Amino acid sequence: MTGDGALEWFDSHCHIQDEFAPESGDGPVVAHADRLAATLARAATSGVTRLVCVGTGAATSAAAVELVRSLRRPGGPAAAEGVDLWATVGLHPHDATDGVASLDAVLADAVSASGAGVGDDAGPGRDRGDHRNVVVGIGECGLDYYYEHSPRDAQREAFALQIELARRHDLALVVHTRDAWDDTFDVLAAVGVPERTIIHCFTGGPDEARRCLDLGALLSFSGVVTFKNADDVREAARLCPIDRMLVETDSPFLTPVPHRGSPNEPARVPLVGAAIAQVKGLTTSEVATMTTANARVAFGI
Ligand SMILES: [Zn+2]
Repeated sequence: MTGDGALEWFDSHCHIQDEFAPESGDGPVVAHADRLAATLARAATSGVTRLVCVGTGAATSAAAVELVRSLRRPGGPAAAEGVDLWATVGLHPHDATDGVASLDAVLADAVSASGAGVGDDAGPGRDRGDHRNVVVGIGECGLDYYYEHSPRDAQREAFALQIELARRHDLALVVHTRDAWDDTFDVLAAVGVPERTIIHCFTGGPDEARRCLDLGALLSFSGVVTFKNADDVREAARLCPIDRMLVETDSPFLTPVPHRGSPNEPARVPLVGAAIAQVKGLTTSEVATMTTANARVAFGI
């Protein structure tokens, strides 16, 4: 943990497991243990003490689960000194045609024997309370009509099935939506909005923000709030109550200003928080404290 008085940030959405896992999914973490340790050390130095590794398909979800488990295993391949990690299991709308059943094996493996939450395989002597759960969310899932890599009906079906999964397992739902607001709201309304729903990398304006907040969802802001052309997103951040807000990097994507052009990483989430603080007239400390508390509630940890 960071020293007395230091800020603690929660990166609610990153993909660092992708950077460290080879395509095969074989021996994921060991291959890049040094880089991983360096990335996590920089996160800890920046006060980013918690992060969620988000799956986008069966392979990346399995890699996220394995990364979290391996870092908790005594004598594991890379230390995560001062940083705690969790995973989500999900199918991105780009790959909706893979079918949500492709996640079955990963989810079944992650569901604890007790059936209480979705647990880990921490060694003897480790705390196995709820906050040690490995899988804390379903997603990212949703609709992407900008790229439309999968047909729209396949996207809607995969999204609906994952909303059901989140409800059934009482997990957070991590939603990706791009150029598809109306259908996103329709599918959520049709299936039923999970109690803890996060609109990841919120890039709408004030109107979309109000609609999401009316649903009871949380808005997770990314490096986009630092972009020059993102006045609409900043306007949305201004109106979003701080107790409904999360911060994320979505790393390795969406590197905040002033680091555009280099890959993003969890250590940069404070830049997102600083931009939010400026827009809302709060201190960075208030933003760090509130968004960290919100993320812990949202992910049930
Ligand atoms: Zn993402």
